[in-house]
Amino acid sequence: MTADIKLHDKYFTPYLSEEEIIDKVKKLAARLSEDYKGKRPLFISVLNGSFMFSADLFKYLTIEAEICFIKLASYKGTKSTGHIITAIGLDTDINKRDIIILEDIIDTGKTMNEFLPQIKHQQPLSLKIAVLLHKPEATVYPLPIDYICFSIPDKFVVGYGLDFDGLGRNLAQLYQLKED
Ligand code: 5GP
Ligand code: MG
Repeated sequence: MTADIKLHDKYFTPYLSEEEIIDKVKKLAARLSEDYKGKRPLFISVLNGSFMFSADLFKYLTIEAEICFIKLASYKGTKSTGHIITAIGLDTDINKRDIIILEDIIDTGKTMNEFLPQIKHQQPLSLKIAVLLHKPEATVYPLPIDYICFSIPDKFVVGYGLDFDGLGRNLAQLYQLKED
């Protein structure tokens, strides 16, 4: 068992070990390799949080596959359009491709809910979502999430790519915020 850690002014306690995470990621890679046999899917990894999950998942795939990395930028639109989320770096043609979106975590579902129509608009052949973490209790925008490594309670987590105010992304395991 590893010790608690401190990031900025908050304490975090070990939650999911590196072994548990890698085991689940390998299982997901095996499932995807089976489901997409002979299809050459295009993975769209949503930065920053999903970089570690995406890298591990991608190296355990045994099929032909492509990957690209995007960032979602949120800005204020007009009064009628509200907040707008745009994808930066989506330079690969996704029309008629089998797309799998890779996200670190789906919390309320707001980000994905706003991003999905932009992908659908380009008419991919198929579209699925794969996440490392899902917080079912936090759902505000229900989404079809096709592949989930871990369903977790509605508590803040860091590590394995996920940050707390910039820190903690380098941690190989996941930590949960300690309530004080
Ligand atoms: P959404 O609410 O739109 O589904 O999630 C928005 C974003 O909030 C996620 O992409 C992620 O960056 C961040 N987020 C949600 N829950 C957590 C968490 O427990 N830990 C960290 N580090 N980020 C989170
Ligand atoms: Mg994210």
